[in-house]
Amino acid sequence: MSKFWSEFVHHLEPYVPGEQPKMARLVKLNTNENPYPPPPSVMQAIADATNDALRLYPDPDATALKEAIARHHGISSAQVFLGNGSDEVLAHLFMCFFRQPKPLLFPDISYSFYKVYCGLYDIDYRAVPLREDFSLALADYDANNGGIIFPNPNAPTGRLLPLADIQALLERNTETLVVVDEAYIDFGGESAIALVDRYPNLLVVQTLSKSRSLAGLRIGFAVGQAPLIEGLERIKNSFNSYPLDRLAIAAGVASFEDQAAFEDNCRRIIDSRESLVQALTQRGFSVLPSAANFVFATHAGHEGEALASALREQGVIVRHFKTPARIAPYLRISIGTEEQNEALLAALDQAL
Ligand SMILES: *Cc1c(COP(=O)(O)O)cnc(C)c1O
Repeated sequence: MSKFWSEFVHHLEPYVPGEQPKMARLVKLNTNENPYPPPPSVMQAIADATNDALRLYPDPDATALKEAIARHHGISSAQVFLGNGSDEVLAHLFMCFFRQPKPLLFPDISYSFYKVYCGLYDIDYRAVPLREDFSLALADYDANNGGIIFPNPNAPTGRLLPLADIQALLERNTETLVVVDEAYIDFGGESAIALVDRYPNLLVVQTLSKSRSLAGLRIGFAVGQAPLIEGLERIKNSFNSYPLDRLAIAAGVASFEDQAAFEDNCRRIIDSRESLVQALTQRGFSVLPSAANFVFATHAGHEGEALASALREQGVIVRHFKTPARIAPYLRISIGTEEQNEALLAALDQAL
């Protein structure tokens, strides 16, 4: 604390990221990183970009990466906004679109950064409860709002909404912005990017952190109609002209050019997820249906917190949320490599 702080800083409640422990030989299944490295093509692109040009500023518009994303998704590059991780994209879009007289709506169990941005930008919000089975019912999101945001698949539940539900919401809710945060969409969902041309109030956010193994480089993007992107560019250019460095731009382009490696990586994780769900179920866990690179699981005979610490003693780190109370019995377990998943199961067998 310091008397030199601006007044509002005293009241901020910052986001708490999952820990990045320094211990060696950990089975780290707590922050939904990809367990596999970026493909050789991406490593090579970073090596090639590591040259004299690093003394020069990067392209402030990261045009090459916008074009690679546009090609991949069959859209125009004027429909792409880039940021230093999708967290920065989210921060900019909260500031750009959600400072409204009416409250922003998002699920009560969801990505906890949404609340933090509301605090930072003084945005009024209403947390809409998930149903009993942790499903997200968009019918519960009424017209009286200053905007709507939700992850699909949701985090930390992993539950996926069909595209038809999102389209039905867009048909009803035409006067405020709808943001779909698709951090995990590549692990089994259908992207709402397909709807962007039809709905001027739809913005879809994605990241290269999860399905593209690049959490360490910080690349995220939003897709929407050009006037939405133009608003975001105004915010970005009032904040930081160069959110993406040269190495990130090069790696991002290479990632979108190596479709085979990307599909392979996603497929491996989806297959491992299905085996892990089966193994957890055999051990007495209830596992929510997941379309993400993590599962959300609870065991009738054991407290979530006790299990998490029993695993930690054996070098396996998973994520446990103490609040809200409804999710305290659950563990969120990122899908690891096959070896990591086996280590998790061995540690669970000890703990149970
Ligand atoms: C991981 C995650 C993000 C942030 O991803 P970055 O691009 O690494 O900042 C955003 N939203 C959700 C729901 C996430 O799980």
